[in-house]
Amino acid sequence: MIARQKLGQHFLIRGSILERIARAACIDSPGIIIEIGPGRGALTEKLLERAGRVIAVELDPFLVEHLSRKFHGEPRLEIRRQDVLQSDWNEWGRAPIAGNLPYYISSPILERTARLRPARAVFLLQKEVAERVVAKPASREYGLLTVQVGFWMDARLLFEVKPAAFHPPPKVDSAVVLLEPRREPVPVDDPDRFLEFVARSFRHKRKTIRNNLAEVFGRELIDNWPEAPLRAEQISIEQFAEMYRRLNALRPQNS
Ligand code: SAM
Repeated sequence: MIARQKLGQHFLIRGSILERIARAACIDSPGIIIEIGPGRGALTEKLLERAGRVIAVELDPFLVEHLSRKFHGEPRLEIRRQDVLQSDWNEWGRAPIAGNLPYYISSPILERTARLRPARAVFLLQKEVAERVVAKPASREYGLLTVQVGFWMDARLLFEVKPAAFHPPPKVDSAVVLLEPRREPVPVDDPDRFLEFVARSFRHKRKTIRNNLAEVFGRELIDNWPEAPLRAEQISIEQFAEMYRRLNALRPQNS
């Protein structure tokens, strides 16, 4: 039995906002678009006006039932009753993804989306999370999530959305972000290893790079780095890549 109040069910009711999200997500009609968390289908309806086909992934069986009735006879909509985090994302290829996301799982959804590198993704998020996604180094919001997304995708904040645009209204402000594959990929040999290195650098946010990395790579090595006295939140993705390549150059082949 699903605890429905925990599923982040805040339904968008402002038509102009739904319209803007659908417009941003569907620029190459009439292709396929994936919708995460269609709820009662308000955004789904707008997406169907622009896309050739919509695959909508919804966890709540009551809402799946509602959607099946509402869109009965619509051959261009495929409703999947699934936990989006248990779905096979590779099956979606590079199709655009859209959604007014359930906020409790927005970070893993963002991370997976970034790795998949769809043609574009348009997500309505908690404003604080949206700000972390688009943050610049040395700002309060910049952190591991910024790098996990920014390594794969260019991120842009499109517009903010106030609680009154939802029913029931959430307690926080929201914002829409657009993700598109990075125009200039970050040159590293192994993305997983690179992102592990970045995660290690952010392990204790208040500690310096020296203190976060020395226990793994040795103090003598890290002490010589110009970044040693900095904190991870001050370091850009390109600088992280430079640090990672420096370490790689010291690593024996095939280790
Ligand atoms: N798109 C709708 C709208 O804008 O009105 C609903 C958005 S609501 C914020 C989030 C939706 O995601 C809910 O319908 C909720 O049931 C669904 N959801 C929550 N967790 C999910 C999961 N793990 N997988 C798929 N859908 C989920």
